[in-house]
Amino acid sequence: MIDLISDTVSQPSPEMRRAMAEAPVGDSQRGEDPTVNELQAECAELLGKDAALFLPSATMANQIAYKVRTRPGDEIIMDRWSHPIHFEGAGPAVLSNVMIYPVDGDRGVFGEEEVLSAIRPDDPHAPRTRLVSIEHTNNLGGGKIWPLGAIMSVSSISHLHGLSVHMDGSRLMNAVVAAGISAREYASHVDSVTLCFTKGLGAPVGAVLAGDRDFIKEARRYQQTFGGAMRQAGIIAAGALYGVRHNVDRLAEDHANAKLLAERLAAEDGIDLSPEDVETNIVFFRVARAGMTSSEFAEKLKARGVRVGSYKGERVRAVTHLGITRDDVLRAADAVHDVLAG
Ligand SMILES: *Cc1c(COP(=O)(O)O)cnc(C)c1O
Repeated sequence: MIDLISDTVSQPSPEMRRAMAEAPVGDSQRGEDPTVNELQAECAELLGKDAALFLPSATMANQIAYKVRTRPGDEIIMDRWSHPIHFEGAGPAVLSNVMIYPVDGDRGVFGEEEVLSAIRPDDPHAPRTRLVSIEHTNNLGGGKIWPLGAIMSVSSISHLHGLSVHMDGSRLMNAVVAAGISAREYASHVDSVTLCFTKGLGAPVGAVLAGDRDFIKEARRYQQTFGGAMRQAGIIAAGALYGVRHNVDRLAEDHANAKLLAERLAAEDGIDLSPEDVETNIVFFRVARAGMTSSEFAEKLKARGVRVGSYKGERVRAVTHLGITRDDVLRAADAVHDVLAG
């Protein structure tokens, strides 16, 4: 099976598994796990923040950031296609009792005007706007990269209005490699950042949340509250550390493979796709003109040994990752051709 359903399906390599098996560990709830501490220090440095907290998932990292920054009844501004709206189990409502103000960006990227139009007046009828959350790269936006200028203008207008800015940088390293801009530079414009290890970086578990000292101190409290404080977590932190050290530069291969796939698919009658929209490792396309729903298409493709995702019967998503070679991509494109040929 050529598995393009997500970059989360990648398997830890033998070298990563070895690093995990040999990691020195301790009780990380007491701050005594040397591998967790090393990962946290290395990620704080990478992101240019005071401190970072190792957590079981990027979902938890985002939810803790929202919890620290808001009070019940507050509102968070984010693009309508953001991960926390669609895939985090209604976390903002359940855990922080906050509202979301969804804005219409361009595949996840919005600007100063959207922030300004979403900020509520200081009026008891309205929720209190507290935070802006940006997703870089944007997953449902097809791995779209936020231009640095857009991050800077959204962040400065938000700060001017007393709002904090959180970056869901679960896929940040894809942007770093594709745009050639450092994680530290991107993160310098926001107050907190999530970085996920289980996507392109290929680790089996975990994410970090980074920010200033006071923010991380509060985040540590909610890590405990939400049940995310672990014990000998160095075993999984070692996988994350391996991913950060060895699997960043190679993301360029995933991007080239995604581009190649996009170009092959765009040449097929019946597929709607603009290869220039593919900036990182995510390829979204439509198959309506081929006379089938995206789920029918995904089923037929699976029968030919290729797994892709289907969204709302309309969109198909294919994601490249470290388990996918250039040859796999060419075979996947051939399988798509066969499906369309009936
Ligand atoms: C995958 C992802 C998450 C959630 O990550 P988990 O570690 O699976 O909880 C959050 N945001 C974005 C943009 C993602 O791609």
